[in-house]
Amino acid sequence: MGEGAVNIVLFGPPGAGKGTQARILTERRGWPQLSTGEMLRAAVQNGTPLGKQVEAILAKGELVTDAIVIGIVAERIDRPDCAKGAVFDGFPRTIAQAEALDKMLAERGKKIDLVLELKVDDAALVQRAEQRVKEAQAKGEAARSDDTPQTLKYRLEVYYKNTAPLLAFYSRQGKVVTVDGMAPIETVTKAVARVIDSKRGWFARLIGR
Ligand code: AMP
Repeated sequence: MGEGAVNIVLFGPPGAGKGTQARILTERRGWPQLSTGEMLRAAVQNGTPLGKQVEAILAKGELVTDAIVIGIVAERIDRPDCAKGAVFDGFPRTIAQAEALDKMLAERGKKIDLVLELKVDDAALVQRAEQRVKEAQAKGEAARSDDTPQTLKYRLEVYYKNTAPLLAFYSRQGKVVTVDGMAPIETVTKAVARVIDSKRGWFARLIGR
């Protein structure tokens, strides 16, 4: 990854900190955050046909179909703000999604440059979801319908069954770098920045810049 487009997948279970780190990367590096979860929640909030179709699925913590999320992402990555790359947050979540993403990027002369895994203990994930509910309540906002302890447990099961196998998929492509997601936010942000900059430095040396 050089001066051209940089496409990064943030990988990890629900509550690992993908959204937080994606927002920081957007702020500091200008790559847009592509969160399929946020796009789907916005569709639900706006009462669009898509929102009506997925509302119950999101509330249960199930995955929506590959076709739906692949369609959303295909449309999103063609917007001009993705020309310099993007940070994928919560996508891909299945092997079929990862294969579709590789294909749609390849068709555009791009690829996934880096998969950043945020590693966090399950117990911490439960605490973080509880924290997220409290923070929403304190701000007078509605908590996410899927942040209840029971739904979170189910989302973790879905993660281990459908999404965790993607790590092997991306490891085979030599793209995975793991960061300790248990550390405080600023520490994780620094570790993420180090990984990205060392990858970019390596590429720059390779092409003799
Ligand atoms: P998130 O905000 O990433 O935790 O996503 C919230 C919910 O949106 C998930 O529990 C799923 O119901 C749905 N969702 C988000 N991204 C995907 C995806 N890539 N594949 C299938 N379902 C998704």
